[in-house]
Amino acid sequence: ITILAIESSCDETSASVIQNGKVLNNIVATQSVHEKYGGVVPELASRAHQQHIIPVVDQALSLANIKKKDLNAVAFTQGPGLLGALLVGSSFAKSMASALKIPLIGVNHMQAHILAHFIEDPKPSFPFLCLTVSGGHTQIVKVNDYLDMEILGETKDDAVGEAFDKIAKIIGLPYPGGPMIDKYAKEGNPEAFSFPETEMPGLNYSFSGIKTAVLYFLQNHHQKDENFVKDNLNDICASVQHRLITTLLQKLKKAAKQTGINQIAIAGGVSANSHLREQLNTLGQKLNWEIFIPKFEYCTDNAGMIAMAAHFKYLKEDFENINAAPKPRMKFTAE
Ligand code: ATP
Ligand code: MG
Ligand code: FE
Repeated sequence: ITILAIESSCDETSASVIQNGKVLNNIVATQSVHEKYGGVVPELASRAHQQHIIPVVDQALSLANIKKKDLNAVAFTQGPGLLGALLVGSSFAKSMASALKIPLIGVNHMQAHILAHFIEDPKPSFPFLCLTVSGGHTQIVKVNDYLDMEILGETKDDAVGEAFDKIAKIIGLPYPGGPMIDKYAKEGNPEAFSFPETEMPGLNYSFSGIKTAVLYFLQNHHQKDENFVKDNLNDICASVQHRLITTLLQKLKKAAKQTGINQIAIAGGVSANSHLREQLNTLGQKLNWEIFIPKFEYCTDNAGMIAMAAHFKYLKEDFENINAAPKPRMKFTAE
């Protein structure tokens, strides 16, 4: 079974070929046009997808030595994501599937972030918990099966990646700021400054309060000393990061205790964060968790994870019809 998968939900245009459940390649074209705006500009994202999609798909097919006529299905990210960005991938996939007269597979991007764990060993077994942390989402998910997932808790406002990026912007770092905070934090003291935590019921999160707290904190210090940020950059980054990661892990710990599940995975762009990885490993040793962290290239947006999800959907003959529309706010559908 050979499937071509396309990802175009945000600012990465990506294509991947999967054969009998093995991801053969994962071609990603990152859009740099957004940097100077300090965030993803939807209209520019759509245009860049349009430019990149044919070369990216051609490269994935030729690297895998696959002809279009050898494909058994075409998969695309159906949602959640930016409508104009999703439209490029979905229109392309639909044209290709209809021209080749092969099935079309619509994939949920958040489900795919989790299924990235099945691309390479070691693979978790069911059920496991997955903390999905990205630019648009923060969720604790109970994964019962490949396509059967329940959200146990999630953010009620900003996603944690969004908090990283917005705080980085306040500090004056370029977009996307998450990796920059991570970098400077390595040389800083995580306990230098303390920022308040927003208490949330159950397994939910809230990350918009800390952004305002950091803003006031910096404004306050700046009035007294205009070099405050420059002189304390490492400590500020380490303290902000420590607050965000500690909050993430507290609820994850609670979820593990409530469900009695000790296989714990992380997914999404923020799972690249080195403090999260470190703290998770420490906590895991203490609580006897088995920890799963995907390879870096499968943490951020990529078509390899879409291909992996498409493989499982193909096995269940879960196909879309040719009228399938993108779903910018797509939810998990438990099957
Ligand atoms: P979604 O998957 O929810 O639709 P997205 O696709 O934009 O959102 P990803 O590409 O999975 O999200 O992740 C991007 C986010 O990950 C950005 O917010 C970025 O700052 C953050 N990120 C990446 N690396 C790191 C890091 N080392 N530390 C902290 N944050 C990071
Ligand atoms: Mg992205
Ligand atoms: Fe993503």
